[in-house]
Amino acid sequence: MNAENTAPKVLIHSLSRDELAGLFTEMQEPKYRADQLWSWLYVKKVMDWSAMSNMPSSLKEKLAARFNLNSVKMEKTEGESGRTRKILVGLQDGEQVEEVLIPGGDRKTVCVSSQAGCRFRCTFCASGQAGFRRNLDAGEMVGQVILAANVYGERPSNVVFMGIGEPLDNYDAVLKAVRIINDQDGLGIGARKITISTCGIVPGIERLGEEGIQVELSVSLHAADDELRSKLMPVNRTYPLTCLIEACRKYFDRTGRLITFEYTMIGGLNDAAAHARNLVKLISGMPARVNLIPLSPVEEFDGKASSPDRAEVFMEILGRAGINSTLRMSKGSSLKAACGQLRYRKK
Ligand code: SAH
Repeated sequence: MNAENTAPKVLIHSLSRDELAGLFTEMQEPKYRADQLWSWLYVKKVMDWSAMSNMPSSLKEKLAARFNLNSVKMEKTEGESGRTRKILVGLQDGEQVEEVLIPGGDRKTVCVSSQAGCRFRCTFCASGQAGFRRNLDAGEMVGQVILAANVYGERPSNVVFMGIGEPLDNYDAVLKAVRIINDQDGLGIGARKITISTCGIVPGIERLGEEGIQVELSVSLHAADDELRSKLMPVNRTYPLTCLIEACRKYFDRTGRLITFEYTMIGGLNDAAAHARNLVKLISGMPARVNLIPLSPVEEFDGKASSPDRAEVFMEILGRAGINSTLRMSKGSSLKAACGQLRYRKK
């Protein structure tokens, strides 16, 4: 039968370590075989069953009949080695997402997409402009990390769920992917080197606080009053600021982890001194820092980045109130790979 006519196989990278162990028990294979496979997948990161030299062919054939080892395909790369690179990632069903490799200092960061498209339609973000297609499987996110490792020639130091989609709207698959890439006998990326960024899905933040995992949480704020925030981010109508900030406080109480608030600076819209003072009122006394990001240009949004002067005044106001902030110089805008510029496609 033509492979194109068969139902898509399960991605091997979607299996948790326990599920893999269970599978080997079910196949009446010894446990060490599951560990061998885990190591081929996540230490040697092979993309071909035949490369797994210490596994019997009959077992590999059985696995290959049920599982797909090529969870994602690299369809195109833009940018040069040593600088920000954008990769067009092909999925089994023809959907395409983007991931970004951001090397800098001793860091090798990969920015991973969690959904094809996005439901939340923040006005200034390209990712939601064409709506939502589907959630990504855990294996499609893990696959993006492995692909990045293979392009970097080493394991990425940091993984940020800041590509296309809303990670807390695909909660189970994202958490599964986090646990797979965090596994010490595999990719071994420390939980504190993994960032989940959310537009403010309150139930997701509450759930994440109960997971007992030390991931970094970023919350996209962009405005400190409900009227403006609802205009920029429709999700604010469902989870307004008081309830969002309350969830953030609870998250800190539970986990002891500092939250990062992302604040995209849009000239003349949310970057005046009064906006900074509102932000101070909203979060002062909270264990948090603020990441200011000048707006990256997006075709559908008629706005421009704040001038450096305004950004500086804004930072000063935060600083005087004892709030730590950094101004993130957006990388990759020449590739349309900066924050908010990623889009999904369909072949
Ligand atoms: N859905 C999640 C993950 C996306 S992370 C979230 O909203 O947090 C991408 C970050 O870039 C978010 O903080 C997002 O608000 C921000 N962003 C979106 N569009 C942008 C733009 N045009 N310029 C700068 N930042 C943008």
